[in-house]
Formats: sequence, C-alpha cells, structure tokens
Amino acid sequence: MAPPEQANPREKANLVIIGSGPAGYTAAIYAARANLKPILYEGFFSGPSGGQLMTTTDVENYPGFPEGISGPELVDNFRKQAIRFGTVMLQDDVEEVDFSVHPFVIKGKNHAHEALSVIISTGATANRLDIPGTRDNEFWQKGVTACAVCDGAMPIFRGRDLFVIGGGDSAVEEATFLTKFANIVYMVHRRDALRASKIMQQRALNHPKIKILWDSEMVRVTGDTLVREVVIKNVKTKVETTHPAGGVFFAVGHTPNTKFLKGQIELHDNQYIKVVPGTSQTSVSLVYAAGDAQDHVYRQAVTAAGSGCMAAIEAERELSAKGFVK
Ligand SMILES: Cc1cc2nc3c(=O)[nH]c(=O)nc-3n(C[C@H](O)[C@H](O)[C@H](O)COP(=O)(O)OP(=O)(O)OC[C@H]3O[C@@H](n4cnc5c(N)ncnc54)[C@H](O)[C@@H]3O)c2cc1C
Repeated sequence: MAPPEQANPREKANLVIIGSGPAGYTAAIYAARANLKPILYEGFFSGPSGGQLMTTTDVENYPGFPEGISGPELVDNFRKQAIRFGTVMLQDDVEEVDFSVHPFVIKGKNHAHEALSVIISTGATANRLDIPGTRDNEFWQKGVTACAVCDGAMPIFRGRDLFVIGGGDSAVEEATFLTKFANIVYMVHRRDALRASKIMQQRALNHPKIKILWDSEMVRVTGDTLVREVVIKNVKTKVETTHPAGGVFFAVGHTPNTKFLKGQIELHDNQYIKVVPGTSQTSVSLVYAAGDAQDHVYRQAVTAAGSGCMAAIEAERELSAKGFVK
C-alpha cells in the first residue's frame, strides 16, 4: 500500500531562519551573500510579519538614518535587501521543530523543511495591559508605548508628566531613563511595595523626579491627537483622580516567542533561549539564536541585527567546517 501523502512535503535547505525582525532579516542578508540560499519563515499569525518595529512610528536610534525612519519602512528595507541576495520568504509560522535528528525538521502551517542549520529569531512580545485608551486604534504610538529607551527622547514626551506602569526592575530602569526628558515621572503600581530589587527600589524612592503612586491602577487614557490625561484609581479607596499626562509607558515585561522550542533546546527560566555567551550558539550544534528571543537585556533593533549577523557567520563557518557546504 502506498504511504499516505505528506501534508507538507519537506524541502531541503542549508539554512532555515525562523522569524522576521531585524535579527532574522540581517541573518538572511549575510547568509544569502554567503551562498547558503536561506529560507526565512516570516510568520503570519505569530505577530506582525516584520517584527516589533512594525508597531512603532519613528525609529530615531538606528544608525544610518540621521533624520530617523519609520519602523515599517526600516523593516521593508531589511526585507528588500534580504530578497535582493536570494532569500526565499515564506509567510508562514513554524509550529514544530525536531532538533533530535539531523537534518533538522521544521514544520510550518503550510510548509516543511529538512534543514542542515537553523537560526531562531522569533523575537519577543512586549506585554501590555488592556486599558481603555491604550489600544492599537486609540493612543498606542500616540503617547502610549512599551519602550522608554526607544521612544523616551521623542519631542512629544519632553517636559511632560509621564506615567510608567509596572513595579519591577525594568519599570524602575524605564522611569529613571525618562527623568532625563520628563517634567516628572509617575510609577503606577497596584501594590504598596515595589517588586524591584532593593537597590532599584532605593533608586526610585530617592529620585527627585520619580513619584510612586502606590495601590493604584490606570483605568483610562484620554486625549485628542495625542495623550493628554490619565485617570488613576486607588485600588483601596476606589477614588479616581485625573492627571495631565504626556505619555504612558508599559513596563510589565516581555514574553519571548519560544513556546514551540520546549524540549528541543535549552531555555532560561524566563523562557529566553540560552546561548553560549558572546556567540549565538544554542545547546544544539548548528542551531543558533539571534535577537530578542535570546536577549532580555538590550532588546534593541541594532543589537538584534548585530546578533543576526553573528548567527549567519557562525552557521556558515560551522557548515563549512563540517563539510556540509563548500
Ligand atoms: C513599541 C516599540 C517600539 C520600539 N522602538 C524601537 C526603536 O525605536 N529602536 C530600537 O532599536 N528598538 C525599538 N524597539 C525594540 C525592537 O523592535 C526590538 O528589539 C527588535 O524588533 C527585536 O528584533 P528581533 O528580530 O529579535 O524580533 P522581532 O522584531 O520581535 O521579530 C520577530 C518576528 O518573528 C516572528 N515569529 C514569532 N514566532 C514565529 C514562528 N513560530 N514562526 C515564524 N515567525 C515567528 C514574529 O511574528 C515577528 O515578526 C521597539 C519595540 C517596541 C515594542
């Protein structure tokens, strides 16, 4: 009897890149120029194809664009450059991988590959709370954002009252960073103590431009073309107060897009991919990780692109050293 036909016949590839942000596209540019003929799964349902920069307006800190560039335009440039050197783009999500066999098996919704090497660059998702006024078609990117380092220096935030939502180390870091530009930074925290480490708590408590709104939650953001006011509710007294506001920054953590890797490679407790420090090498030989999926410290487009370059160079060298490619 003939075997049942495979849903997605597996094609062979030297290198499969999973994820389409700055890390994945940069890896593709380098790999394509090294003749590896990379296949890039750009994602479809897993998030905006092109990654987190697709959700932002101006990128002002990516080198080479002295006047800044819009996030989607920058991504489009990355993508075109990768295609120019021969990268094959698939608008598909990888649902499953098998790294226990070699060539590795990569299964997407609509495609499947047997790959000699893999670069994982699936990024991370900045967590947001569903507060009225902060959603995509409301004031998201019109004063509401999730990255102080990326957006804090923008003119719309300068000299204004800014609000950071969160109480961990990264919330204190974001609040401290914003004090460079803000009139005052309010940290909105649901409890009566921060979750941040002792040293970070002290930094927030002692800073003359940071004020912590304890036992508080933001219930509404309003404005015209930009954020103008926020409504804060004291969770104990239930009293709501309206404050003038120029910006709202979510600092409630990130979730790396690594669920589909469970049991296949080593992950940190926070689910970021473990790499050998200073390299993009994961716990499996010929599998590399780049960008935010392995970086919970810097989380910037330029660091993601840099690590994508590293991953492609490391893949090319190991494939050559092992005789898989000439
Ligand atoms: C609002 C905002 C503004 C920002 N502004 C700036 C800025 O001004 N400057 C700056 O340097 N940085 C900025 N950043 C940070 C920057 O966007 C990230 O550091 C960078 O995009 C990380 O790149 P990456 O390639 O690792 O992953 P990402 O950009 O997260 O892209 C990963 C891609 O992989 C896809 N994917 C996920 N899972 C799968 C799967 N299973 N199969 C296939 N595809 C998958 C996703 O859909 C996504 O398209 C900002 C971030 C946010 C949220």
